[in-house]
Amino acid sequence: MDLGIREKKGLVCAASRGLGRGCAEALAAAGVDLVINARGADALRATADEIAAKYGVKVTPVAADIATERGRGAVLDALEGQADILVNNAGGPPPGKWTDWDRDDFIAAIDANMLAAIALMQALVPGMMERGWGRVVNITSQSVRMPIAILGLSNAARAGLTGFVAGMSRQVAPHGVVVNNLLPGIHATARADSLDSGVAKAEGITVDEARRRREQTIPTHSYGRPEDFGATCAFLCSQHARFIVGQNILLDGGASNISI
Ligand code: NAD
Repeated sequence: MDLGIREKKGLVCAASRGLGRGCAEALAAAGVDLVINARGADALRATADEIAAKYGVKVTPVAADIATERGRGAVLDALEGQADILVNNAGGPPPGKWTDWDRDDFIAAIDANMLAAIALMQALVPGMMERGWGRVVNITSQSVRMPIAILGLSNAARAGLTGFVAGMSRQVAPHGVVVNNLLPGIHATARADSLDSGVAKAEGITVDEARRRREQTIPTHSYGRPEDFGATCAFLCSQHARFIVGQNILLDGGASNISI
């Protein structure tokens, strides 16, 4: 299927690896020129070079912390203030117990997983509206649908972004701008490895055993793959997604047993 977005310009945040990279690859495969971002310059440059060589599109790496105003400024400079496609993403907050976190911890989680996405939408969506076309995908989490007890910081910050998007996506839709959230369940990335390592340590089992047990909690008995996640993201950024507005789309192998 032709996604109809060849030569569009896109930004994918937090994309040197994992789900962000999956999204960047799928957009590049559809012919989108990209600015990609992550904090570590070396890994990011290697990813940008690989994607550019594989798909023949322009990929500009911007090493910056997207949770900061300065980092977002660097990314927006590389875009010359304009993009057709925006994929918001950042690392997830650490797990813990509800009494573990103080105000600074909450502010850090809200900066990374709520306010960064809102700031980039506020910077880039007005231009999309003027041009009459735009696509935004916010990577959030399955925890938006079924909050996960040990991920209180994530539950809190992502609920805020979800509420914001529910309103703004309807306000921008008349101008050809389509905004949706993509909710990953467990995917095979470094983030999943680190959560598995935490479980292994806490329960005195191997990381492989922790992973096997978690796989059994998913109806597919396997973790999701970044490339499948990326393909869904690219579809939401395509011409075909014009009637999918303000949705929270769960990619979790059926793990959340929710009927609607
Ligand atoms: P990952 O650790 O594999 O990759 C994270 C990427 O984000 C890296 O490229 C890293 O450099 C970059 N990054 C992190 N913080 C950044 C920042 N402040 N500024 C710029 N770049 C930053 O993670 P992932 O598994 O791909 O997860 C992506 C998001 O999806 C996270 O918010 C995570 O919590 C969420 N999520 C992941 C899963 C999963 O199973 N993988 C499930 C639910 C939610």
